[in-house]
Amino acid sequence: MADIKTVLAENEKLSKEVLRASADQIDQARRFPRENCDVLGKAGVLGLLIPTQYGGAGGGLAEMSHVLDTQAQNCASTAMVTLMHYCATAVIAAKGSDALKQQFLPACARGENISTLAFSEAGSGGHFYMPVSEVRQSGGGHKTLTAMKSFVTSAGEADSYVVSARKAGAAAPTETNLYVIAKGAPGFSTQGRFEGLGLAGNASAPMSLTEVAIDDATRLGGDGTGFQSMLEIVLPHFQIGVASVSVGIAKAAHQTIVARMTTRKYAHAGGAALASIPRVQFLVAEITLAVNSGQAFLRETIRKALAADPAALFDVLGVKVAAADACLTAVSRAMTLGGGWAFGKRGGLERIFRDAQAAAVMAPSSDVLKDFIGKATLGLPLF
Ligand SMILES: Cc1cc2nc3c(=O)[nH]c(=O)nc-3n(C[C@H](O)[C@H](O)[C@H](O)COP(=O)(O)OP(=O)(O)OC[C@H]3O[C@@H](n4cnc5c(N)ncnc54)[C@H](O)[C@@H]3O)c2cc1C
Repeated sequence: MADIKTVLAENEKLSKEVLRASADQIDQARRFPRENCDVLGKAGVLGLLIPTQYGGAGGGLAEMSHVLDTQAQNCASTAMVTLMHYCATAVIAAKGSDALKQQFLPACARGENISTLAFSEAGSGGHFYMPVSEVRQSGGGHKTLTAMKSFVTSAGEADSYVVSARKAGAAAPTETNLYVIAKGAPGFSTQGRFEGLGLAGNASAPMSLTEVAIDDATRLGGDGTGFQSMLEIVLPHFQIGVASVSVGIAKAAHQTIVARMTTRKYAHAGGAALASIPRVQFLVAEITLAVNSGQAFLRETIRKALAADPAALFDVLGVKVAAADACLTAVSRAMTLGGGWAFGKRGGLERIFRDAQAAAVMAPSSDVLKDFIGKATLGLPLF
């Protein structure tokens, strides 16, 4: 078991030395970053949020944000795999029975069990907290689940899946349950590939569950408490996690373009670098401001969430939007400054540009979050 300080230092070292070296190759091959998961697992990074009694480092939101930001500066695809593993392990740790935790968490902490969330369904789209699939109670007390899950990160590569569904006989769409289902469960399979624009170094795919046997012992929390678990545990980890990935991608754009602007020189202007042009300085300033504002919102959200500040919910809803917007601003300015070099694959900015697009559409999308924030501001019910 590694302590938090060591885990953060190891993550930083591996991100800069291992993740960065293979980021372009993994992206272009559109493959799951298995070797990164292996080294991160061995170094204890994948056990960051797991309590120490289950072999993890016992870290929280601040450490998670640091890890994901650092990974995303180097390989955002790997950061997304880590993020979904963190969301899954956080909710298993918070809501699983001791037996379930013993079954999954020590292996998750060692990186021998990669976990993820299988929430989204075509029937509810970005409103993933309201699955349309429902657990069926058959004769003899047996339960089964048939569902089509869309866009599952690490699909087929992950060893365990936190799956959402309406509880058997649900009277409302929010009467849901979360279950941990192991890879290879009869009736559980991946269906093709998602082939996303960015974060392409992944195995993102739809998954189908056909009459998968549901054991109540694999349920996270009491019957019908899935929606509550999503709000209490998954939402803050996911929102702060995606925001951290966005800030990391924005920092990568910043570093890449600063290096380019100081080294790209014009012979016709006596060898002057682009950095000497006032308009270039102006756009670089906008990138710096975007990175700093995204980072500041993120730090403030984490501070309020850790202090259990009643205003934290507002920031948890807003931080993903603000960080995604900051990232898109930084990356679009960097693309302008990079010119033809950025438009091609040579400089790495093209990958950063594609990776930056994901956060705004990942559910809850920026539009759906603004809908929530607007309602909350006006004192209207969210659901
Ligand atoms: C990179 C990536 C990784 C993902 N990983 C996972 C994963 O691991 N597990 C998982 O379960 N899912 C995952 N998803 C799925 C994701 O969370 C969403 O469910 C999915 O992106 C929603 O897409 P959709 O096309 O169905 O959206 P739709 O529901 O069709 O919505 C499309 C758009 O309609 C608008 N809209 C809809 N409702 C409202 C509203 N009330 N107010 C305002 N505007 C609205 C918004 O602009 C929204 O973006 C991932 C998605 C991406 C892009």
